[in-house]
Amino acid sequence: MKLTVIGCGYLGATHAACMAELGHDVLGVDVDEAKVERLTAGEVPFFEPGLQDILRRNIASGRLSFTTDHRAAAAHASVHFLGVGTPQEPRGHAADLGHVNAAIDALVPVLRGDHLIIGKSTVPVGTATGLAQRIAVLAADGVAVELAWSPEFLREGFAVEDTLTPDRIVVGTDPAGTTSSAVPVIRDIYREILETGVPLIETDWATAELVKVSANAFLATKISFINAISELCEIVGADVSTLADAIGHDARIGRRFLNAGLGFGGGCLPKDIRAFTARADELGAHRTLGFLREVDAINMRRRTAMVDLVSDAVGGDVLGRNIAVLGAAFKPESDDVRDSPALSVAGQLALRGASVTVFDPKALENSRRTYPMLAYASSGADACDRADAVVVATEWAEFVHMSPDELDEVVRAKVIVDGRRCLDPQMWLDAGWQYHAIGGPVTGRRRERHTANAHVVGHAAQTLRG
Ligand code: NAD
Repeated sequence: MKLTVIGCGYLGATHAACMAELGHDVLGVDVDEAKVERLTAGEVPFFEPGLQDILRRNIASGRLSFTTDHRAAAAHASVHFLGVGTPQEPRGHAADLGHVNAAIDALVPVLRGDHLIIGKSTVPVGTATGLAQRIAVLAADGVAVELAWSPEFLREGFAVEDTLTPDRIVVGTDPAGTTSSAVPVIRDIYREILETGVPLIETDWATAELVKVSANAFLATKISFINAISELCEIVGADVSTLADAIGHDARIGRRFLNAGLGFGGGCLPKDIRAFTARADELGAHRTLGFLREVDAINMRRRTAMVDLVSDAVGGDVLGRNIAVLGAAFKPESDDVRDSPALSVAGQLALRGASVTVFDPKALENSRRTYPMLAYASSGADACDRADAVVVATEWAEFVHMSPDELDEVVRAKVIVDGRRCLDPQMWLDAGWQYHAIGGPVTGRRRERHTANAHVVGHAAQTLRG
């Protein structure tokens, strides 16, 4: 089928390449000329494992190309995926729908014939209803444009896998519509995937919009739940990691997303729970999602708690101390630093007078752009040069598996602060290091060292779906 994907960021570029991989003829559209140039040259403008191969293969086969021209999109296909950004508003918690509206405004007036627009961006409930009215005003006489909403659940770092083997596909259509072409078209697009047994959930616009934000709200709540428990564990000297293992054995609870630590960040969860709460307020349901404000507050508290922990670890004040921060991306296997807890901690330490040097395997370029006041190193060991404390802020495998003797000769003081509770404390203690973990003591872990590390990497592998 001929398809377009409007908005070629983390979601859209992956979706475009994966749709071409399924055999479709895809045109990606983005307003960012530099991004379109790089994509056209077969270069992924961000780090996403496996995407480069798929992108290049499909460009070479002629099934995938990119443009900045919405008219070209209108001429290329009659099915258009919409994956532009929905960031937090600059002066509020609601989602900024400016990009979604702009994409519709650029595309719809130039459409001719019958078209289907399939929204994939994460939007507040009610958006599709509003957009359908906008489309009706913008569409030329005799042009029929149907709107469906099919939210995206991919996780950065696993985006290709999640797009080609999703847990489920959700499609919402106009509840007042008498005839819809959306579901049969979506069945055609995803035929290969649906034949493997992936469920297709057909519903209305509002339910589809709510599925996405509810899923993210649930995940955020689970993470903040364990972090709240970890605050209590710190007071009484209990081990939240063991507690999480123990409660996680209950299948109704499950162990995933119960890792206490520095909390969540990125381009999705924080802004999605805020936009969800803002939308509930607009709908007059002020108390309904009030708990998400607390989920957010618990999460943000982890960042200051981490800064305090680092201060304590170096004797009470970071002023004039050299601090190495290992990790800048909001999670491993990504170069995304949007609302990254790691960079927030690095920035706060710098504001308290520390000389902070950051290293991340993939996110250095984005970090430099976002936090130019910090120093950046080209390796973990380089960042740790004469450090008074080493802070693990993102659980990249190379930090999880790092051994103390790699750093013994480099640092000024053997102090490690584990912001992700991902290290083996006994190994560091045995090597003569002071070990500190956010969320309180870590006990009884040595026995489980190998499984624990495998487990940590396993957890990194299942980190946040976007
Ligand atoms: P992004 O910022 O990486 O990409 C958005 C892209 O849209 C940018 O390249 C931008 O230039 C482009 N754009 C903006 N206005 C445009 C227009 N008028 N026409 C064409 N292109 C335009 O954002 P993202 O992370 O890809 O997220 C996109 C949406 O998908 C958001 O709603 C997000 O919440 C949702 N989402 C993201 C993920 C994820 O893991 N990143 C997962 C699921 C859902």
